[in-house]
Amino acid sequence: IIELGTPDRSVVTTCAYCGVGCSFKAEMNGDTLVRMVPYKHGKANRGHSCVKGRFAYGYAHHNDRILKPMIRERITDPWQEVSWDEALSFAATRLRSLQAQYGKKSIGVITSSRCTNEETYLVQKLARAVFGNNNTDTCARVCHSPTGYGLGQTFGTSAGTQDFDSVEHTDVVVVIGANPTDGHPVFASRLKKRLRAGAKLIVIDPRRIDLVKSPHISAAHHLPLRPGTNVAVVSALAHVIVTEGLMDEDFIRARCDWDEFQHYAEFISNPRHSPEATAMLTGVDPAELRAAARLFAHGGNGAIYYGLGVTEHSQGSTTVMGIANLAMLTGNIGRPGVGVNPLRGQNNVQGSCDMGSFPHELPGYRHVKGPEVRAVFEEAWGVEIDAEPGLRIPNMLDAAVDGTFKGLYCQGEDILQSDPDTKHVAAGLAAMDCVIVHDLFLNETANYAHVFLPGSTFLEKDGTFTNAERRINRVRKVIPPLNGYADWEITQMLANAMGAGWTYSHPARIMEEIAATTPSFAGVDYALLEEKGSVQWPCNEAHPEGTPLMHVDGFMRGKGRFIVTEYVATDEKTGPRFPLLLTTGRILSQYNVGAQTRRTANVVWHEEDLLEIHPHDAEVRGLKEGDWVRLASRAGETTLRAMLTDRVSPGVVYTTFHHPDTQANVITTDYSDWATNCPEYKVTAVQVSLSNGP
Ligand code: SF4
Repeated sequence: IIELGTPDRSVVTTCAYCGVGCSFKAEMNGDTLVRMVPYKHGKANRGHSCVKGRFAYGYAHHNDRILKPMIRERITDPWQEVSWDEALSFAATRLRSLQAQYGKKSIGVITSSRCTNEETYLVQKLARAVFGNNNTDTCARVCHSPTGYGLGQTFGTSAGTQDFDSVEHTDVVVVIGANPTDGHPVFASRLKKRLRAGAKLIVIDPRRIDLVKSPHISAAHHLPLRPGTNVAVVSALAHVIVTEGLMDEDFIRARCDWDEFQHYAEFISNPRHSPEATAMLTGVDPAELRAAARLFAHGGNGAIYYGLGVTEHSQGSTTVMGIANLAMLTGNIGRPGVGVNPLRGQNNVQGSCDMGSFPHELPGYRHVKGPEVRAVFEEAWGVEIDAEPGLRIPNMLDAAVDGTFKGLYCQGEDILQSDPDTKHVAAGLAAMDCVIVHDLFLNETANYAHVFLPGSTFLEKDGTFTNAERRINRVRKVIPPLNGYADWEITQMLANAMGAGWTYSHPARIMEEIAATTPSFAGVDYALLEEKGSVQWPCNEAHPEGTPLMHVDGFMRGKGRFIVTEYVATDEKTGPRFPLLLTTGRILSQYNVGAQTRRTANVVWHEEDLLEIHPHDAEVRGLKEGDWVRLASRAGETTLRAMLTDRVSPGVVYTTFHHPDTQANVITTDYSDWATNCPEYKVTAVQVSLSNGP
């Protein structure tokens, strides 16, 4: 324990790790941060925190932080420290010259779900108003883009339907493809409290996660499905509900498109969707599945919580729509204790999507093809906006390899470590003539960068994050930026180096522009956030205090829409060379690729990534606990230690992706969601064999 002194003041801010969005008091002694204390008035966390968030400030002062801008002519040259002016001028000149040579659409941006709403808004504005194209994408591409698509199609807006408090009114909780205990610990505590008070639990997950059986909690049903069969399982649940007449017909008639429901009901009633017909495919006991469907339909208020085990599949969007169908079938939308809730991984996934990061949508999820929407931003920004959607991240990389995409400004994301098919990402980056990495550390992507712009941590800036329940929380500056500038200022300086003439003096001014252009944020301003602590969008004239529960009287799109969800098997197949299925997840003490948690001084955070393998699969391979094993797929291989456990079923192995040495994404395939290109991280055919170590 380091003695840092007695606090003499505190600043309330928001955790920068997961989508729960816990509020903290940063307690200061002068300019030294003494400790982070969970804020008892925080509406997302009610005075609680997890071990990650409590120590989340440690990385801010880590020696690995880069605090001076750097440039280099070629990626083989050594980095050269330069002034901010020199770095920004170098970047702007290169980007402009690439546009002159290869066209306006030859450059683009990647926004970050780690950065504030205001920063994200500016980065997509940089692409649209300064670069003159819609080549903007976000790291949400690789996590929750299917949520955006699936909930948008069915309900009319791309967000969770209820607030965290709502779980206290839930009678039946379905957790599918999520592990809240490790991924969203503070919400998991509230969920467990409700379960201990008597709510029933259905877990749909290939792995026996902690919630299935933990002290005082026992899931009523665990459906350990074969990875890649989510759609078949969700359809089988719907099949039981429809064919046994368990649906809420009054709700469906009143709230949903009846013609589309009838079409869907005819589809889902087909015996090929029954639990019995799909059991061989899914590996789920039909009797257990039928019992789970009956419980969800008639067990009282039913709420569904899901995570990346739903979205990161070639049918991620289809599963999201299937989940929405289940909620509408049973009337579980629009009141406390019910609903559909994506558990967002990163602190501001929701916000980065809300702020127009996607190449086809302006802020507020409005398509760029809409002339009336473009007109709003054209008037606000004083430029003409391209009506053609831009490139997604994988398309940017493909175009780079083809020689037509030449420059990238990447803020707060390490695409070389977090995106699928590492070799292809590296090839795309290597083919570009101007890669600008704006980050805290020299990450893996920076190996291919020509410009490095040092970033600022959440402690060093003002702004807002939007959590998984659409709650807009204030981020407040605790210490001055160690690099001299907050990230929003750096984006503004880059825009101005390219001739933009932006004059934002504070993130509050950026929020004013967001409110003026984005109907769901029309009532949001910093004064309201000071007064209320936080608000949930939509916050506007119709909902001046914000909206804890959505779709109360009607869906955002009017009538709820049932969508036919046909199961299509992934192209990733097991076979004699790769007989096992690998799926991935995370552990409580680490956060994503570990860039922050690995640089925070707490010894319990330095575990390695392990390969969970069933004892039967280990035995036939001659493996013992702790052995080094070679994990190989068609895409690549890595080495890690084995952990024998019956948490995974025979035929399934599991690992985490927190340590760069493991390089789990060298193993994963380049298959992706049919609608959004979200990578299929959760299903990879692999072989495991004894190894001598790395
Ligand atoms: Fe931070 Fe998430 Fe932990 Fe809350 S639950 S303290 S937001 S990591």
